Amino acid sequence: MSYVVWFKDLNKNSIAVAGGKGANLGEMFNNNFPIPGGFCVSAQTYKEFIERTGIKSKIEEMLKGLNVDDTETLQKVAKTIQDLIQRTEVPEEIAEEIRDSYELLGVSKKAEDLVNAKEVFVAVRSSATAEDLPSASFAGQQATFLNVKGKDQVVAAVRACWASLYTARAVYYREKNNFEHSKVLICAVIQRMVNSDQSGIMFTINPSNNNDQETVIEAVFGLGEAIVGGEVNPDTYIIDKKSREIKSIKVKKQEWGLFRDENGNNIKKDIPKTQQEHQVVPDSLIKELARLGRKIEEHYGRPQDIEWAIENNQVYIVQARAVTTFKQEIVEEKSTSTEDQGKILIKGETASRGVYSGKVRLVKEISELNKIEKGDVLVTAMTTPDMVPAMQKAGAIVTNEGGMTCHAAIVSREMGTPCIVGTEHATEVLKDGQLVTVNATQGIVYSGKIEIKEPLQPQTTSACSGESMVTATEIKVIMDLPNVAERAAKTGADGVGLIRLEIMIANAGIHPAEYIRQNKDEDYKNMLKEGIGQIAKAFMHKSVWVRCSDIRTDEYRNLKGGEQEPNETDPMIGWHAVRRLLDEPRILKAELKAVKELHDEGLKNVGVMIPFVIRTEELRKCKDIMREIGLEPCKDIDFGVMVETPAACWIIEDLCKEGISFVSFGTNDLTQLTLGIDRNNQRISKLFDEMHPAVLGELAKVIKTCRRYKVKTSICGQAGSRPDMAEFLVHQGVDSISANVDAVDEIRRVVAKTERKLLLDAER
Ligand code: PEP
Ligand code: MG
Repeated sequence: MSYVVWFKDLNKNSIAVAGGKGANLGEMFNNNFPIPGGFCVSAQTYKEFIERTGIKSKIEEMLKGLNVDDTETLQKVAKTIQDLIQRTEVPEEIAEEIRDSYELLGVSKKAEDLVNAKEVFVAVRSSATAEDLPSASFAGQQATFLNVKGKDQVVAAVRACWASLYTARAVYYREKNNFEHSKVLICAVIQRMVNSDQSGIMFTINPSNNNDQETVIEAVFGLGEAIVGGEVNPDTYIIDKKSREIKSIKVKKQEWGLFRDENGNNIKKDIPKTQQEHQVVPDSLIKELARLGRKIEEHYGRPQDIEWAIENNQVYIVQARAVTTFKQEIVEEKSTSTEDQGKILIKGETASRGVYSGKVRLVKEISELNKIEKGDVLVTAMTTPDMVPAMQKAGAIVTNEGGMTCHAAIVSREMGTPCIVGTEHATEVLKDGQLVTVNATQGIVYSGKIEIKEPLQPQTTSACSGESMVTATEIKVIMDLPNVAERAAKTGADGVGLIRLEIMIANAGIHPAEYIRQNKDEDYKNMLKEGIGQIAKAFMHKSVWVRCSDIRTDEYRNLKGGEQEPNETDPMIGWHAVRRLLDEPRILKAELKAVKELHDEGLKNVGVMIPFVIRTEELRKCKDIMREIGLEPCKDIDFGVMVETPAACWIIEDLCKEGISFVSFGTNDLTQLTLGIDRNNQRISKLFDEMHPAVLGELAKVIKTCRRYKVKTSICGQAGSRPDMAEFLVHQGVDSISANVDAVDEIRRVVAKTERKLLLDAER
């Protein structure tokens, strides 16, 4: 057994090995996000440690029958278990592998450097196997050790991480959320430390109002732990996600920051007076952060909570996890409350919306948490994760410090408890036992119990949009996740221009080739049928185009059976899409059968498209297979090809003659292949431009030819979300444009404007 796993060998499906945190880091490392390097001491290693040393049964015994509401006993038991783990020797084999791996972190790629290997500073973080799952946030429940240096110190920090699985708050949280203690394992993530000049947190959705068009960044000088622990009031920047324009900058005075000294100690250092009220991050880097945030969100398909750091103007991503409180609604900012008669006691920032009246309970130290009774308003200086058990009882929470992205704020949002942070003086102004009304939606605490009407009807993203605009060019969405189908349908889109099956496949965890090897073609079909069906139902009576799978050999190795994928020199232009489907026709048949069965059940809105076509024979063979399973292409079902190779552009007339209902431009690949730019290579990404005249020439030619043959044209590459591309395509006479869910409104407006202008020009 290998006790450690390097980031390069992990991905988002590795939660069982590396916990949510480790799996996410691996996923990002392998997708070229700027992640400092590192490895994980796997969850199985922890398991082996407690089993081999015989302490497992002792821990279980101590937890048996524990009443976690009895805070004193909870704290005593938790401490005894932690001490037991800390006292237990780590078996030598495990310790040795951790030490060796740590040493490798200090080595560059050349083997001879081993001799001169430097001991580097690392962060050692815990990552529980239930941590960071989309459904529950264990944010900050386990320990993190920063600036650890030295082999033995790293081993000690790993063991301390293991012990932190049994802090009182972690035990309480698991108990209350029905996680079986023995089922939650812990992995330690060891990652090179960035010597942060600035750092902070980024949310790719505004957590205070659920606006998914905004990115919120909180920033401090030095290490970000000061924000996470709620000790410093950070700067807050709000950025428009699409245009990357900075919408607001709130600079907070920062008198000190946490910095690393040469011995690796995190020390509080005064910020020079001249800088204290300066913006922490310059505009250019705010935009770069927002760009990375959006890319990470796109990668994961849902809003992210990201920890970042900057060293010498180089941005690093330290951690990313799904935002657990995203409700997919925008809540209107205005309020017509009748609260004018209430006396305002203090103001702060909205961490979690809502209104609540109750008695103030001041908590100055953790030991005072016992004071909190159900329904109290918890008032404290700092919102640390230790307070989670008490927060569960509180009716509302008010803090002096902390930003809207500190851990406790995250947890309060998850619990739906109104929470105001960053009031600066709440613990001085509010008195123990005082009756107050917390209007967290507005960030105000009033004296006494007052009535506040909240006409805050949640709105869908389309309610404030251009949905009512009718355009001649259809506006569709691109969708990969069946569970966002409802939300996507609410945009009022005219259909789905691309469903990528690969995301459903990845979620199911088994490689399509593996299903076939195991003769489980039916299971594969059923899994796809369920996901596609969910989307087709949400878009009833509107066309929904499914792309047959486009599995590149390097991208799905971590799925079950993925290790059998061949190694190719360049998988981008290797054995994937139609060329592979025709070599492995059972995969294609299962996909087509999923669609056929949906048709039989009345979902005739589902169409099919074939990716990466370069020859008419490919098309002909796919059509034959379709007929074999009982669907006549272009008659019973919409049948199209993705135009994503220059070859397809050159032979477009033959493809039309062969018989297709539509083409859809896969501009991601088309641009890659036309310009000779690897779309995954960050180094040359600035050269990647779908508006290059060569690409535009291809699009224009294909649309012109297709119009002659009455074949519909569409776009489903990322460029469909670009206003300039939408305008160009409307001018060329494209039939539909598919955009990301969050770009549908804007594209609809651009298309409407362009169409109107074309009409006016024609009348002149
Ligand atoms: C494309 O290439 O534009 C496309 C939509 O396919 P993918 O991004 O999945 O390769
Ligand atoms: Mg493609």
